[in-house]
Amino acid sequence: MKLICANFKMNLLKDDIHNYLNTIKGKINNKNVIFFPSIPFIEEFAKNNYLVGSQNISFKDFGSITGDTSVLQLKELGITYTIIGHSERRTFFNDSNYIAKKIKLGLDNDLKIVLCIGENLEEFEKEKTLEVLKRELDEALQDNLDIINENNLIIAYEPIWAIGTNKIPTNSCLDNTISKIKGYLKTKYNLNLKVLYGGSVNLDNIEELETIKVIDGYLVGGASLDALKFLSLINKVN
Ligand code: PEP
Repeated sequence: MKLICANFKMNLLKDDIHNYLNTIKGKINNKNVIFFPSIPFIEEFAKNNYLVGSQNISFKDFGSITGDTSVLQLKELGITYTIIGHSERRTFFNDSNYIAKKIKLGLDNDLKIVLCIGENLEEFEKEKTLEVLKRELDEALQDNLDIINENNLIIAYEPIWAIGTNKIPTNSCLDNTISKIKGYLKTKYNLNLKVLYGGSVNLDNIEELETIKVIDGYLVGGASLDALKFLSLINKVN
């Protein structure tokens, strides 16, 4: 079954979350959906028995890091997943420097990791996509090979130029890139990892995306914020 990750980013307030939970109640059956709300609302999703993850974890377990949240604190709220390396974290918080450490900390604490990788527009136009993706995979995996396996690490391929822009790669481009990611993971690391697609997934393009066989699921940002639309979207995913 495909995996669908709903990344709320820094959106929605308390009332919105309550309305959201009321709307989806009893309607997410037989679907593999994981919610990634802002930290204040993680517990609410966990209490209602949804799979829930954090959008980030600190690179340390405890200590003097003002504003960060420890993986152990997040686990107490009920997370079993975390996103690591989202392009917004890489851009605003230099997260590329901490990816390997965060993966180790997450895995040592029994979380499942959704690792985001993706090229920016300039890299895409200069045909550097694969070079960027291989580098990001190497940085994440090399120091953690002894603890990574096919159940605890999921890759989300998110071209940065497709996030929140309503632009997505062509079918053949996505098929080719995701196949190459899988091939690289297999030949270099002997890993068969799931690869999700993320970047402007919505109700208008989900049926077309569903024709691409190599995609193992989706990371959905903006289109996960409206509960009714999100329910329609996940009902179109096999
Ligand atoms: C994301 O946040 O990872 C994302 C893919 O956002 P959007 O679906 O809004 O492009």
